[in-house]
Amino acid sequence: RHFSGEEEQQHCNVGTIGHVDHGKTTLTAAITRILSKDGATKYISYAEIDKAPEEKARGITINAAHVEYMTKNRHYAHTDCPGHADYIKNMISGASQMDGAILVVAATDGQMPQTREHLLLAKQVGVKKVVVFINKADLVENDVLELVEIEMRELLEDFGFDGLNSPMIRGSALLALNGDTSELGENSVWKLLDAIDSYFSIPTRDNTSPFILPIDNAFTVPGRGTVVIGTLARGTVKKNVEAELLGFGEEIKTSVSDVQVFKKSVPVAKAGDNMGALLRGVRIQSVQRGMLLCAAGSQVVGNHFEAKVYFLTRAEGGRSKPITSKYIQQLFSKTWNVPCRIDVIGSEMLMPGEHGSVYLTLLRKMVMIEGQPFTIRENHKTVGTGIIVKVLN
Ligand code: GDP
Ligand code: MG
Repeated sequence: RHFSGEEEQQHCNVGTIGHVDHGKTTLTAAITRILSKDGATKYISYAEIDKAPEEKARGITINAAHVEYMTKNRHYAHTDCPGHADYIKNMISGASQMDGAILVVAATDGQMPQTREHLLLAKQVGVKKVVVFINKADLVENDVLELVEIEMRELLEDFGFDGLNSPMIRGSALLALNGDTSELGENSVWKLLDAIDSYFSIPTRDNTSPFILPIDNAFTVPGRGTVVIGTLARGTVKKNVEAELLGFGEEIKTSVSDVQVFKKSVPVAKAGDNMGALLRGVRIQSVQRGMLLCAAGSQVVGNHFEAKVYFLTRAEGGRSKPITSKYIQQLFSKTWNVPCRIDVIGSEMLMPGEHGSVYLTLLRKMVMIEGQPFTIRENHKTVGTGIIVKVLN
């Protein structure tokens, strides 16, 4: 197995998910040990991964180990969390967005509650693809492995993943970590690596969808008009295109009379460009950081959303009292914040340290899309973190 240093390596974000004790950390260590034979990957031991450092993401403390490795033509950043609560916080806060997830399930147990909970969350936060590693195959008979595979394919389907085509690899992370070269040992991890290399796709810049420019800044050019500045999230912007300025309850129709990149007029700006757009007939007073400029008619502003939210414990700087419905606080997302009412779905209240589904009602209409992370703050302190699951308007 060789990989060439000349080719540019694609970068891919992955992570292990699954029930506690099913072998996530053992597998993570085994991957680095096996790839370290190729020279470009550093072996990280089980003990090093398991003492995952605390990190602060969006105001909350998450224990997460970030491990990196290289395969034939990809560079991977891989997240492994020590505890169930860390996975929940990691996924709900959008701290490490996964392009694909490696679901570890021990054949000795089959699916367990955290297997399901991680899969559900992965789906809700926008993970597109899952590869299943059926672990601890050294401890069970072949027909048990058959049954677990069938069960996992059904489970993936139930949660909206492609259960039929998701690769399933049977193996033993422990044997692989200990240098066993049998089919269940190192070979199973090589098979897993081939599967993630070919099945997970790398997000590419989207130059074809209707454009979206989140506005960071705006200024006036005397004699010309208002210029809005931002990094083009997707699509392309050309001169004279019809556009809309959306957010904070405003829906302003306009068109782009000039496109600038690096302060020079250009015929077109592409996704990823930091750009300026000169707008027709828009006063600077109507523009706010946090608004979106987008292709006319392509986005809807709304007040109503369904979301998954995690509320921080007192020790994490969160509230000491539970959240009940009609809870009103500031919601922060990207570069904006608006007052928001939160109603708990399916129960009376959420305690600090709990996560659950909620309805959000924004006081002013904004554009929010599925998978968009946000935080809830009280008096400048983060008390909750969440992610949009559904647009309800
Ligand atoms: P995690 O909680 O999902 O990260 O699970 P760990 O990686 O900490 O593994 C839990 C326990 O299962 C440890 O004692 C491992 O040594 C053991 N284990 C992990 N993989 C295998 C395996 O393939 N076979 C066997 N027999 N034990 C394993
Ligand atoms: Mg672990």
